[in-house]
Amino acid sequence: MTYDVAIVGSGFSAIALTINLLRFLPSSASIAVVGDDPGFGRGTAYRTEFYLHRLNVPAARMSVFPDRPDDFVEWLRQQGRAVFAEDFASRGDYGLYLRDTLASLLRPRERRAHVDFIKAKATACVECEHDGLVFCLDNTGELKARNIILALGVGNADLPLPKDRIDGDIHSRIVENPWRLGWLSRVGRRDEICVFGSGLTMIDQVLSLRAQGHRGRIHVLSRRGLVPHPHPSRRAAPVPPELPESREISALLGALRRQVKNGADWRGVVDGLRPQTQALWQSLGKEQRSRFLRHAFAWWNIHRHRIAPEVFTRFEALLKDGTVTVHAGYLKSIESDADGANIRYRRRGTQDIAAFHADWIVNCTGMERAGIGHSPLLQAMRDRKMIVMDELGLGIRVDPQSRVIDPDGKPQPGLFAAGALTAGQFWEITAVPDIRVQAMALAETIAAKIAQTTPRPARIA
Ligand SMILES: Cc1cc2nc3c(=O)[nH]c(=O)nc-3n(C[C@H](O)[C@H](O)[C@H](O)COP(=O)(O)OP(=O)(O)OC[C@H]3O[C@@H](n4cnc5c(N)ncnc54)[C@H](O)[C@@H]3O)c2cc1C
Repeated sequence: MTYDVAIVGSGFSAIALTINLLRFLPSSASIAVVGDDPGFGRGTAYRTEFYLHRLNVPAARMSVFPDRPDDFVEWLRQQGRAVFAEDFASRGDYGLYLRDTLASLLRPRERRAHVDFIKAKATACVECEHDGLVFCLDNTGELKARNIILALGVGNADLPLPKDRIDGDIHSRIVENPWRLGWLSRVGRRDEICVFGSGLTMIDQVLSLRAQGHRGRIHVLSRRGLVPHPHPSRRAAPVPPELPESREISALLGALRRQVKNGADWRGVVDGLRPQTQALWQSLGKEQRSRFLRHAFAWWNIHRHRIAPEVFTRFEALLKDGTVTVHAGYLKSIESDADGANIRYRRRGTQDIAAFHADWIVNCTGMERAGIGHSPLLQAMRDRKMIVMDELGLGIRVDPQSRVIDPDGKPQPGLFAAGALTAGQFWEITAVPDIRVQAMALAETIAAKIAQTTPRPARIA
């Protein structure tokens, strides 16, 4: 069978695409979703059961439907939760919301497109003789489709030191992917932990450790030692940005700072920029984009990706009682000592070398800039010249319609990508409010394409 559409992936992007395709495709159409995650749609972000793993976006902006913004808040209320639109719900609840939303669209079988969920990993991809692409799956099957959407997410960034420079006996103490929460149960109550990275992932892991009963020292090391800011308890109204003509990063940031100096709430300024961020990124040249990534990215992240006030309060208490310390510096070495690792780093802005002991090393350096190194499928597709990385190596090259671009600069017919993989084109494409818009646009594009061969498209929700 050749499917009309295949989605490869099983995280938020994949479920948002499935939901939107079910809304826009005719009932005669067929969809395959290939993913290796048993909790389809919940992905790394929304499968957690820790209550303190909160959304970092208020409930009012987390509907999976861009055109029905109250959907998530209404779902929460139907579950008996007394929520306000500006509350930060748990990520576990969000996962359940996605599951219920998909289930309700799957119910009217006779009025919707056919969907097959295939639990497998896609390992390779080749062009079909006539039309579309064929994917090889690790369950030995294969899958043919006329339209394909790659929604594979991005992997974890590497440790900030090459593995061959780390003593061999420490490797079993290194947690490279902290999202496999199983590692928490191996940690002793008083073990000392070193966390690389000081962003949202770090905060999640520190609070998870404490929730599991861990009481030992936690050292957080990142180049700048910057920790995400909290959302205010009452949201500041977005302030329309007053941007200059110049696309120099220093001029753009200078303009935003001026607005704050002139009395605007900085959170309102950052939020006001948000609807324009994708267009602004697209108007920057390669040099300006890479300058932004080198010099402003870490600052942007802590102001833009803020955390729920309650989560921040808990984390701040750990900083104040001294059991969690954030160090700003550059990792120099990881060497084994009597019962774990000795971590040496150069303090930021000095030549001083400092050190601390750790029983465990946890990589929380994030996922935004991980490229395609995590995915044998994408690497194989690159080797076959089906995809090419974007110029900064954030993901793969796509055009403004999310169509995958080949090495000759041409959009590949029927091949699309979604989510963080498309950050080179869109930059702001890692959070729900952006991915949902992309998912709906892609579903409409593909529905229009299919409608050219199938009359009378149906919209069921
Ligand atoms: C911890 C965390 C918290 C977040 N919190 C928020 C929040 O509060 N609000 C917000 O708006 N955003 C949040 N985000 C951001 C955003 O919602 C997620 O990054 C989003 O889940 C991205 O989904 P994705 O499907 O693109 O990628 P992923 O979630 O990474 O999913 C990709 C999936 O594809 C599967 N896959 C990969 N390769 C293959 C293959 N070859 N074959 C088959 N399957 C494959 C993977 O196993 C994985 O399940 C959070 C992200 C994280 C990580």
